[in-house]
Amino acid sequence: MPTRLTCCKCGRAYSEHRLACEDCPDALLRAQYASRFSPTDDVGVFRFRCWLPADGFYPTPIGPSVFPSRGFGPSLGLKRLFIAFNGYWPERGAFNITGSFKDHEAPPTLVYFREQNHNEMVLSSVGNTARAFAHACSENEFPLCIVVPESMLHRLWLTREPSPHIRVLALRDSCDYSAAIRLGEKIRARFNVMIEGGARNVARRDGMSTSVLEFARLTGETPRYYVQAIGSGTGGIAAYEAGLRLRGDGRFGDRLPELHLVQNSPFTPIHEAWQAGRDDLAEPTSPAAEIEKVKAMYADVLANSHPPYAVVGGVRDALRDTGGDTHAVTRDDALRAKAAFERTEGGSINEPASCACAGLEQAIAKGSIDPEETVLLNITGGGYDLLRRDFKTYTLEPTRIVGEGDLDFDALESYEEIFDRTRCV
Ligand SMILES: *Cc1c(COP(=O)(O)O)cnc(C)c1O
Repeated sequence: MPTRLTCCKCGRAYSEHRLACEDCPDALLRAQYASRFSPTDDVGVFRFRCWLPADGFYPTPIGPSVFPSRGFGPSLGLKRLFIAFNGYWPERGAFNITGSFKDHEAPPTLVYFREQNHNEMVLSSVGNTARAFAHACSENEFPLCIVVPESMLHRLWLTREPSPHIRVLALRDSCDYSAAIRLGEKIRARFNVMIEGGARNVARRDGMSTSVLEFARLTGETPRYYVQAIGSGTGGIAAYEAGLRLRGDGRFGDRLPELHLVQNSPFTPIHEAWQAGRDDLAEPTSPAAEIEKVKAMYADVLANSHPPYAVVGGVRDALRDTGGDTHAVTRDDALRAKAAFERTEGGSINEPASCACAGLEQAIAKGSIDPEETVLLNITGGGYDLLRRDFKTYTLEPTRIVGEGDLDFDALESYEEIFDRTRCV
């Protein structure tokens, strides 16, 4: 719906899409919606367009599937566990076509960007975000450039033929996500192409907030607890913002969902800062040490060394305001929890979702979750086996493979030349 963005720090309002306030680089912008909560009878994420920044929409079955747990909750002693199954599980109404909750952010972002006259996008990603956008941009003929480390290329598979509008710039010999972000940023700066924007993109956050909105639509309540595995923590911020809007609506009680955010050891910068009561994250250690940590992780998509923790309106504020907590789980914790979930509930869940299940177990063991109250567990991804059962799969081939310093941005005359293999240094 038509919306204004306001700065979480100074309150300045903007009518156009931006990634940051002109005066406050250390704060997020947040969308303000005039309407009350009024989900439609459509299926999918756009049924919540009252609280999405785009005016328009297109029909898609992609969206959160929320249902009461049949087996996993009772096995943990929980009375009211709800599962947001945000992967692919058609038997339980889950149709996320690339298998993760990143599918919720791509459609609203595309529609919003188009309305804001951005007709091209650059995205740096190591996996799920790239896949979600590659699918949505293929469906909508929206030109997209994905910058990805070469070592992660194997993750870029789709269940439909990628459109020629999708171009993949692979970083040679790299397994470094930060290098992909740097290159994406250079392309934006040189050619003024919109970047997806991560946590700073309100369409992304508001798309991600729809799990909490779907819970509210079904139950008429705000969940008492919200549990999710995080890397950037954007999904946590989004759940918090959904809570703020529901509280503002007035019909869903005056409580915010208490966030329980789960990280995967040994890569746990948010958990460490929160538990130590620090205002900011510790400085990342050396790049080599970071890579070792990523390699030791079970759910390496959760590795993010620059999450929006200390920005105003970011993860720290979301944890504080909701009275939330963080948890760190090991590979063994996650594997055990995955087995327990799949045995008691069915379906198949991916690595981050398994970490979330282990985090929920830990929160119960610590006594920080009251088993009588509602818990919304975000299963952020799963059902890859069913996707492969139901669809033919395609891999996204690199349009061009370059070294980090290979592209001479001063010499490039047009955006198109980036992809031209005959132009090199
Ligand atoms: C991106 C992602 C996460 C982490 O989400 P954030 O809220 O951005 O930290 C968790 N699970 C899956 C499957 C993801 O793709």
